[in-house]
Amino acid sequence: RDKPFYEGCVDTLSYLKDPSYKKMNATFVMLTKNDEIDGVLHSVNSLESHFNQWFHYPYVFLNDVPFSEEFKKEIKNAVSGDVHFDIVDKYMWQIPEERTDPEAFKNAIDTQGDRGFLYGGSASYHRMCRFYSGSFYKHPLVRRHEWYWRIEPEIDFYCDITYDPFFEMAKHNKKYGFNIMIEEIYATVPNLFRYTMAFIKKYRIKPKTLWKLFSMNHNILKTSNQELQSWVNFYRDVEPKLAEKIVIEDFLRGENPEDSVGLGFLIRRSKAATPIVEDQFDNEEYNLYHFWSNFEIARVDTFDNPIYNAYFEYLDRVGGFWRERWGDAPVHSLGLGLMLDVEDIHYFRDIGYQHSIMAHCPKNAPNKQLVYKEADSRRKRGFFKNRYDSTFENGCGCRCKCPRQRDTE
Ligand code: GDP
Ligand code: MN
Repeated sequence: RDKPFYEGCVDTLSYLKDPSYKKMNATFVMLTKNDEIDGVLHSVNSLESHFNQWFHYPYVFLNDVPFSEEFKKEIKNAVSGDVHFDIVDKYMWQIPEERTDPEAFKNAIDTQGDRGFLYGGSASYHRMCRFYSGSFYKHPLVRRHEWYWRIEPEIDFYCDITYDPFFEMAKHNKKYGFNIMIEEIYATVPNLFRYTMAFIKKYRIKPKTLWKLFSMNHNILKTSNQELQSWVNFYRDVEPKLAEKIVIEDFLRGENPEDSVGLGFLIRRSKAATPIVEDQFDNEEYNLYHFWSNFEIARVDTFDNPIYNAYFEYLDRVGGFWRERWGDAPVHSLGLGLMLDVEDIHYFRDIGYQHSIMAHCPKNAPNKQLVYKEADSRRKRGFFKNRYDSTFENGCGCRCKCPRQRDTE
């Protein structure tokens, strides 16, 4: 069963010298803009001080327009590994309909803007989602690596990462690592699942075990775990979606039940996702869960392979990246469900991470007791949904602070 690669602090200098350790063919990758330089430096400094000062992995920075000399100079000063900058060509960047039917494209985006859901009216956000769904891993600077770690402007790492996640993932046969799991806004993906099911039928794909995490397939509810089953039975009467949540929670939980405290979202979900229309094919629905792709550590070929590429091309052809606002996160997750088993996934519960209003703190966050108790009583009262709503005002308390190696604060 998936659990942290290490408990507590690793003596990094010895770890690096161990003859069995091998630096991996890996890179950080960030799509960004020139004017985000401050946020980019913030992220790079956080990553360097909590991880890369010991490991010196290289960076790839991508942009739809050339990076300025100033941008490159500032980045080069901040990193401890090699760094490469490149533009993405228009075939990777633009949405095909932008070139072929600009009017229809513009109308679709404007309509989504009028409907008012997050970034619906932003053409560049749609491009970015499509790029991260199906193109980033095809860029030559990324493709020449075996592993990547996706980063963004304005991210924070709170804990020292004293081992090499790439090496450990390889050693434990992991293919995809995540840190936060959330629900998608229904209005952005109303037809994504329907098309995904159509793709599965058309190409006769047999989804792997991870699929059950995303699909509200009523077979899932016939789980063998007894304790889980009783919760499922309890909640399926109240609301089937809550029963699905139990499956997700079970997936996120480590061997030690306390590990489940690890997730901390800084948002309070205002309302439950809109119910989904029953799928016309199989009585399956998308439960809207996905790995938040803002944080990803994965093998490049987890995406760069015939099944996922065919999936992306299919989604691109049916137009969901512009007719709707399919995010790269749900697209990645559903794609992973087609290809991976639960064992292929690693939950980096030990990495303290934040971007904008979303955060993950490891289980020894200072207020974990409080969060856990409150969550538990809510659970008994049936307010299971808010289990993870909490704020970590003081950042994360991390098991792994290593003053011997570095002054963390
Ligand atoms: P959010 O985190 O979902 O709010 O999305 P962001 O706006 O932060 O976009 C995700 C990433 O894509 C960030 O690293 C942005 O810098 C990058 N990005 C988004 N739109 C563009 C764009 O039009 N051009 C470039 N070069 N990067 C973009
Ligand atoms: Mn962002």
